Amino acid sequence: MNLKEHVIEAFEQRFGERPSTIIRSPGRVNLIGEHTDYNDGFVLPLAIDRAVWLALRPREDGRVLAYSQEQPEPTDFALRESQHTNSGWAEYVKGMARMLLDAGYDLTGWEGVLTSDVPVGSGLSSSAALEMAVGRAFAAVSNFPFDGIKMARLGQQTENEWVGANTGIMDQMISANGRAGFALLIDCRDLTMAPIPLPQETAVLILDTMTRHSHTDSGYNERRESCERAAAFFGVSHLRDVSLAQFEARAAELDDITRRRARHVITENDRVLAAVQSMQAGDAATLGRLMNASHASLRDDFAVTNAQLDEIARLAQAQPGCFGARMTGGGFGGCAVALVEAEMAAEIATAVAAQYQSAASLIPHIYITTASSGTATL
Ligand code: ADP
Ligand code: MG
Repeated sequence: MNLKEHVIEAFEQRFGERPSTIIRSPGRVNLIGEHTDYNDGFVLPLAIDRAVWLALRPREDGRVLAYSQEQPEPTDFALRESQHTNSGWAEYVKGMARMLLDAGYDLTGWEGVLTSDVPVGSGLSSSAALEMAVGRAFAAVSNFPFDGIKMARLGQQTENEWVGANTGIMDQMISANGRAGFALLIDCRDLTMAPIPLPQETAVLILDTMTRHSHTDSGYNERRESCERAAAFFGVSHLRDVSLAQFEARAAELDDITRRRARHVITENDRVLAAVQSMQAGDAATLGRLMNASHASLRDDFAVTNAQLDEIARLAQAQPGCFGARMTGGGFGGCAVALVEAEMAAEIATAVAAQYQSAASLIPHIYITTASSGTATL
């Protein structure tokens, strides 16, 4: 049974009738452009074929009641009285409701069931998929248009102000606005987007190391602080505004850590723009080399890989038919992404799985994914 049928059936069992609305909201994988979003830079993610599915109907009493097939406790709260109670996944739902109310939306309540095949905490952004599903649910029952950019901002606010994760806006932008068959170049300063076609006859592999990050780890916030320090040194609001030439002219004045962190962000922004050019030219080899360079920069300069990410990226890069591979997402665990020849994808996945298992003593999860469309009712 696919997830759509599954979520409809789960809804019917709970509520005894068909849902009025069914929502699909995808996870994402970032091809290139890591730790650039909060530096007002460029990212190039795609929405994946794994998603949060939510089936629901409106409620007239101003409450939200949601069950997750993946969580024991339901989320149950009154829209206008919601409190932050640190109760796990409920906070994403309450947070979105609060951000929408604070932004002036007139909300109707709803009740429903959700299920998902986006793995949690692996860097494929199950939280953004959930937030955008919740935003879409409120749009459906409260009769306002789902604006993918506004909703992405509210999702980021939910993470930052309600959940307490100091994340950028990439995840919500791509989940809400993804386009089937395309990656999206997103300028995280003005939130403009351009669809960029994936090279012909290539496939995207997601390689989950099965090691996990946590956004409350200090590492993530430390990286952000280093970037802010570097931007202040150059007299700009964000590292987006520092060119490689400007950086090199004054790099020697920076301490070693700040210099490395800034160099990653500045070179990564250039790599994203080069990646777009290579994709527009259908040049998978160049795109792959840029992905490899991105991994090296994240490992050596930004220092957000772990041994398992380095290992799985190295193994993927070494396979015949692999154009390039890199860690993806925030780092410190989670997934790598590889661009491979489509007809070799299954073979490469099998080879990397076996080699990684013997090197790391962990069984990786490897998915061949396709670029899907963003959050929508179906
Ligand atoms: P990720 O990298 O997957 O976004 P996060 O830690 O940012 O990891 O978000 C994961 C959290 O999102 C989970 O702990 C849970 O609170 C919520 N979440 C994700 N998927 C689901 C789901 N299917 N049902 C309920 N909550 C979910
Ligand atoms: Mg998340």
